[in-house]
Amino acid sequence: MSHRFVAGEALEEAISAARVCNQQGMLVSLDYLGENVATTADAQRARDAYLQVFDRIAAEKLHANVSCKLTQLGLDMSAEFCEGLLLSIVERAAAYDNFLRVDMEGSLYTARTIDVVKRVRSKNPAIGTVIQAYLYRSEQDVQDLLAYGCRIRLCKGAYKEPPEVAFPKKQDVDANYVKLTRMLLPSGIYHGIATHDPKMIAATIRCASEKKISKSDFEFQMLYGVRTDLQRQLVRDGYRLRIYIPYGQDWFPYFMRRLAERPANLGFFVRNFFR
Ligand SMILES: Cc1cc2nc3c(=O)[nH]c(=O)nc-3n(C[C@H](O)[C@H](O)[C@H](O)COP(=O)(O)OP(=O)(O)OC[C@H]3O[C@@H](n4cnc5c(N)ncnc54)[C@H](O)[C@@H]3O)c2cc1C
Repeated sequence: MSHRFVAGEALEEAISAARVCNQQGMLVSLDYLGENVATTADAQRARDAYLQVFDRIAAEKLHANVSCKLTQLGLDMSAEFCEGLLLSIVERAAAYDNFLRVDMEGSLYTARTIDVVKRVRSKNPAIGTVIQAYLYRSEQDVQDLLAYGCRIRLCKGAYKEPPEVAFPKKQDVDANYVKLTRMLLPSGIYHGIATHDPKMIAATIRCASEKKISKSDFEFQMLYGVRTDLQRQLVRDGYRLRIYIPYGQDWFPYFMRRLAERPANLGFFVRNFFR
C-alpha cells in the first residue's frame, strides 16, 4: 500500500494522473492545495487557479470535478468576500456541467462553511460539501443539508478536535459513519462515501443492497495512491470510485494531516517528492 502525492508538482502532473485514473475506470477530484491564505490577493489567485482547472478539465475531456477549501478563498478575512469568489468558481463549473466540492476544515469553520455553501447553492446548485463523521453535530448537519438537496461527501474527519466537539474513540466515529451513510444513501441525492476503511465500505455496500440503491446512485471516494488494491477491487465490482488528487506547492498542512493519520506516509512522501 502506498500513498502518493502530486504535491509540489504542477497542474500538468495532476492532469496526467487524472488521465491515468480515468483510463482505469476511476473518476477524479482535483484539489489545488492551499488553506488559510493571508491576503485577498492570494485568495483571488486561488480562485483563478480553480477557474483554470475547470477550463483544463473541459479541454482535456476528463471525468473530473474539483475540490477546494474556503480558507483558501479568504474565509478568514470575510465570509462575503469568500462567497463571491466561490460563486464565480461554481458558475464556471456549472458552465461546463461540472461540480465543485467544498472540503470541510477544522471545527472552527464548520458552521461558516455550511452557511456559505448553502448561500451559494441557493444561486447555483453545482456545489456540494463534506460532512465529518467524528463531529457530534454532523447528524444535524446532514439532515439540514439533505433538506436543501445538497450533495454530501462523508468522511471520518482529518483534524485534531477536542472531545467537546468530536467523538474521541474510533469505534464511535465508525458507528456514526455507518449511521450517517444510512441517512445519505436512501436520500435520492448523489453522495460520495469517502473512506479507505474496508469495514465502512462493506457497511455501505450492505446498506445499498438492503435499500435497493443502485451502484450508479452514489460513489466511493479515496485519496490518490491510498489502498490501490481496494480501489481496483471496487472498480472491478462495478462501483463508482472517485480519486482525490491534490496538486500544487502548498503541500505542507495537507501532508501533516496525512502523516498524523499514518506515520508510514513519511517514507512514501519522501520517495515521491524527490522522485
Ligand atoms: C476523497 C477524500 C476526501 C476527503 N476530504 C476530507 C475533508 O474535506 N475534510 C476532512 O476532514 N477529511 C477529509 N478526508 C480525510 C478523512 O476524513 C480521513 O481522515 C481519511 O480518509 C482516513 O480515514 P478512513 O475513512 O480512510 O479510515 P481510517 O480508519 O483512518 O483508515 C482505514 C484504513 O485505510 C488506510 N488508510 C487510511 N488513511 C491512509 C493514509 N493516509 N495513507 C495510507 N493508508 C491509509 C489504512 O489501511 C487504514 O487502516 C478525505 C478523505 C478522502 C478519501
